[in-house]
This record gives sequence, C-alpha cells and structure tokens, in this order.
Amino acid sequence: MSKTEANCQNDDDPNALRVDIAAKRIDDAIKIIADDEKIPIRNAIGRVLKDNIVSPINVPPYTNSAMDGYAIRSSDIGTGHSQPLNVVGKILAGHSFAQNIQPGEAIRIMTGAPMPEGCDTVIMQEHVTQIGKQITFQGKYKPMQNVRQAGEDLQKGNIAVNQGKLLTPADIGLLASLGICEVDVLRKITVAFFSTGDELVPLGDQLDNGKIYDSNSYTLYCMLKRIGINVIDMGIIEDNKKTLGNALQIASETADVVITTGGVSVGEADYVKEILKSMGVINFWKIAMKPGRPLAFGKINQTLFFGLPGNPVSAMVGFYQLVRPALLKMSGVENTNTLRVKARTSSRLNKSKGRMEFQRGHLYQEKDGWKVKTTGNQGSHMLSSIAQANCFIILPEESEIIQPNSIVEVQPFEVFM
Ligand code: AMP
Ligand code: MG
Repeated sequence: MSKTEANCQNDDDPNALRVDIAAKRIDDAIKIIADDEKIPIRNAIGRVLKDNIVSPINVPPYTNSAMDGYAIRSSDIGTGHSQPLNVVGKILAGHSFAQNIQPGEAIRIMTGAPMPEGCDTVIMQEHVTQIGKQITFQGKYKPMQNVRQAGEDLQKGNIAVNQGKLLTPADIGLLASLGICEVDVLRKITVAFFSTGDELVPLGDQLDNGKIYDSNSYTLYCMLKRIGINVIDMGIIEDNKKTLGNALQIASETADVVITTGGVSVGEADYVKEILKSMGVINFWKIAMKPGRPLAFGKINQTLFFGLPGNPVSAMVGFYQLVRPALLKMSGVENTNTLRVKARTSSRLNKSKGRMEFQRGHLYQEKDGWKVKTTGNQGSHMLSSIAQANCFIILPEESEIIQPNSIVEVQPFEVFM
C-alpha cells in the first residue's frame, strides 16, 4: 500500500472514485436489451413495459353515478330546500334508462349506473326524504356533484401506462379496465454469478476450521430474484486462476451479466483481477464508499461484469448502490431511483471524512416525526447489521461524526406496491 492509499484509519483516498461518479460511469456503459415478448397481463406484474399503452377507450366509458342516491337536473336544485321532485324510476349498475328525465323529475340511481339523459347531478340517498313517489332534500348542492364523467380517469387516445414502467398491480388493473389482455414486455435479463474463495463451503457440508458458509450466493440470488432477473447460480469457485478463468468464460457465454463476489481486492489470492485483464476490458475501482470499497466493472467478451467485494455486507451494499440500478436500466426500467427521505437520528453515528457511508439503520416513527437509529456494530462482515435494518443511513463523503438529533438522509428498504 502506498502512502497515499487509505487504510482503515484513513478514509481519505485520493485514488478512490466518488460513488456518484462510479454510478454515472456504469450508467453510461449500459445498453437496454432489445428483445421483447407478448404475455398475458397477469404475468406482466414486475415486468417492464416495452411501448407506451394508448387508451383505446374512455375510462369510465360512460358518465355514471358515484353514489347510491337520486339523479336530478341541477336546474331543479334550490338554494336551501328543494321543491319536491317526482321519482320516475330506478337505474341499477349494469342497466340503463331510455327515457329523458324532465324538469321536476328525479330517478333512483345506484353507484356505477349510467346517468340518464337530462340528469347531471346525484344527491346521496342519506340526504333525501322520500314520501311515496316524491323526494325532498336539504342542504346546498353543487351541479355535477357525485357524478363521474366519461373519460375523467383516462381519455381515449391518451397514454395510460408509459414504456419503461415496472408494472404494478395498479398498472395491471388499469390495463384490464381498458380491455387489454396482453402486453409487450422486455425479456428478462439473465445474470450468472458465483462466489470466490477457498474458505467457502456450500450449505450442507461440514464446517471445518478456517471455513465459512458461502452466504453471498444466497443474498445475490435473492436480490436478483426480487427484481425479476433470471439467475444462473454457479456456486463456489476456488481461488485458482485456471478454474476462475473457465468459470468466467462459461458465465460470459451464458448470461447477459456476470457477477462475482470476492477476490477483487489486493490480497494474495485475489486472482480475479489478473484473469479478467486477459479476458476483457475491466476497470478496477476503489470507490469512496463504506462498506464496499473495491469493485470491478467492465466487460468479458461482450458480457457485462461486476466484481463485488467478498465481505457479505459490502457485497450487498455494492449491489444495491451500483449494480441494481444498472441491471434495472439494462432491463429497460425508465426510473431506477429509490426513495430517500430525511429523518432525525436518535443515535450518534461514527464516521470519518472521505467516504460516503451506507450505515444500516432502523427507521421508526414517533409523535414528532421519523427517527432513525443505528443497528449497532457496522462491520462489513456482519450480516446481522443489515438483517436487522430497514434502511440505509446515507452519510456524505465530507461528513464526520453525526451527533444525535441531527437530520440525516435515509433510504428505506421496503416498497410496498
Ligand atoms: P475477499 O474479498 O475475497 O478478500 O473476501 C473478503 C472477506 O469476505 C473474507 O473474510 C471472506 O472470507 C469473506 N467472503 C468472501 N466471499 C464470501 C461469501 N461468498 N460468503 C461469505 N463470506 C465471504
Ligand atoms: Mg477471497
């Protein structure tokens, strides 16, 4: 390590890339996949829409009542008490009424039933007194009240769902309301991944001294599945140049993207660097982030490659902050931003200048607003710090120790739709 390089006590590394610059460089290198497929809308949940969907109809298709009540002509509304109106019939949802409603007349109407000719306003039934065939109502009413106008949700010819949208249950419902059965979505991308390290053993094997279970291939599998990616899990590859070279070759031939964990640092068995140099165009970056400083990014043949650090938390943070947005962009997702909000920290947060930190926190609500506290020991080998967390606390490069009660930026883990 040269004098200018960082160590654990000195985070200010002049050779380290800022997170936003690394993200931009990755973003610039991503090409959206071109292949698509037509699938039934229910299968399209979580898939990426290829083209804008233009509404073939008005939604709602006809002007209808928003309430159970009485449809009337607004010109019959008095300023306080109405004159009695004659009820001339009844319209249930799914039915219509052929007659024109005349001045002085009203019609009983249910939610969703089409407004009859002549009527433009609905008085909710709770406000109406009916005696025999006559109704009166009290209070002030606005013309057009309690009526849903044809096309007020969506007008024929307007864009209903934008291309590049990661489809949600609401989008699928909207497509159904337009009578659209199938949509064109971009094909799922395939990611091949493996863990590197002689210390790693697969689950089910005995844990001898000096060995640890491979957890990175499990977090990676799940993080990829969460965003709808096809995965090829290649397991554990030993720290051996030949085996690693073969694995990278196979991975690059079978997937759109290859991700590895471990071996990208400066240790003696960190061979990934050496091999990759001979196989493609790879950048080895030190990123001014904590955890997750070393990251390799580039291409093996024509396949995109990400080499994440081996420490389990570093691998996850590197994935979420730099790889996930890239995979989403490649999958065609238009907006890859995640929610970031401000919260008041109730813990003191240790930090030194020089790296952007993604500390693991717990976001919670109190009477006076959103608070966040640290999940404790932030060692990059400690998966429990992230398993107990529900957000990242994002601390900028230049910040130092954060005192309790300060406002910090947090990135909540959960999205619920
Ligand atoms: P490396 O980046 O290969 O130097 O690994 C850094 C640290 O992460 C070491 O303590 C490794 O044992 C650990 N590590 C690497 N790969 C994994 C994995 N797949 N699962 C759990 N820990 C790992
Ligand atoms: Mg290793």
